[in-house]
Amino acid sequence: MAVVKANGYGHGILEIARALDGNVAYFGVSSLAEALKLRESKFESPVFILSRILKDELPLALTEGITLTVSSVEEAKEISEQSQALKRRSPIHIKVDTGMGRLGIPFSDAVKAIEAIAALPALELEGIYTHFPTAEREDGFIERQVRDFGLIVQALDHKGIRFKYRHGANSAGCVKVHSPIFNMVRPGLMLYGIYPDPSLESDIALSGILSLKTKIISVKHAKAGQTVGYGRDFVASTPTTIGLVPLGYSQGYPFKASNRASVLLDGKRFPLAGRVSMDYLAVDFGNHSVQIGDTVTLIGEDGDDSIRVEELASWADTIPYEVVTRLATHLPRYHG
Ligand SMILES: *Cc1c(COP(=O)(O)O)cnc(C)c1O
Repeated sequence: MAVVKANGYGHGILEIARALDGNVAYFGVSSLAEALKLRESKFESPVFILSRILKDELPLALTEGITLTVSSVEEAKEISEQSQALKRRSPIHIKVDTGMGRLGIPFSDAVKAIEAIAALPALELEGIYTHFPTAEREDGFIERQVRDFGLIVQALDHKGIRFKYRHGANSAGCVKVHSPIFNMVRPGLMLYGIYPDPSLESDIALSGILSLKTKIISVKHAKAGQTVGYGRDFVASTPTTIGLVPLGYSQGYPFKASNRASVLLDGKRFPLAGRVSMDYLAVDFGNHSVQIGDTVTLIGEDGDDSIRVEELASWADTIPYEVVTRLATHLPRYHG
């Protein structure tokens, strides 16, 4: 299952889905709106909602043939009733909470609850799954989750309740969890070539697929002592060249990278001059020759150097997930 929620982790959900369509068992999204967006494009791979949708959204989700997560007997009843009314049989995946503590039937109630769900008409119990909160940490928690999940699958198997898909692993889990209980994985971030955690760098080689580029729209020469931008955080210590690019926090560049991030031009790194503005970044180019229209790389390769999403996230004291998922939907995206 390719997880393409949050606009394909900021990369553009339709373009990512187009690239993967037919090669994945499922597309995983987190809302009905995203599921419908995929449906409109008539992809071959079916669509799965990882989250819970509310009762009033059910008829549309079911008529569109979207596969839903079930985290309680009550939800299963609602889906079964609505499916009967629509004269359909609806595929569901039952989520078991083995330690994430958000959605899912609590582990200790799971077997009984799933037996009750299996007795409902109009449902096809296609999948069973769980989720790992700390797949990158090696403290034994995940092994316990895998064991508990296996016990449930086994107990249900003895009662004749079997599932086509059994899944647990997010990106980090894909690397860390090896158990024959599972026959499907759900990577998100890693699909886009980004590490969910630096500890995974020694396990798998990933290269990012996203570049964020913009062009210089203004060049100014600042004298020593001159300041640039809000708060006057940047003070030129020597005469320098300040280039302005039209991309700021409203386009998703993190404000917290103010005064800390660097960008690339002609294969070299240059620091931001002061704060990130709503629609601008100012860059301190020193005595490097720059011209209006020159391409500046904020994420991605330029010459021999590159800025990874993970590096920008560290400048902004955040996680790479947040950097990519906040890239504004209105930014033009070009797919190679
Ligand atoms: C988002 C999500 C994933 C993918 O997680 P990554 O860490 O991006 O691989 C997998 N499963 C569920 C339930 C999710 O919500």
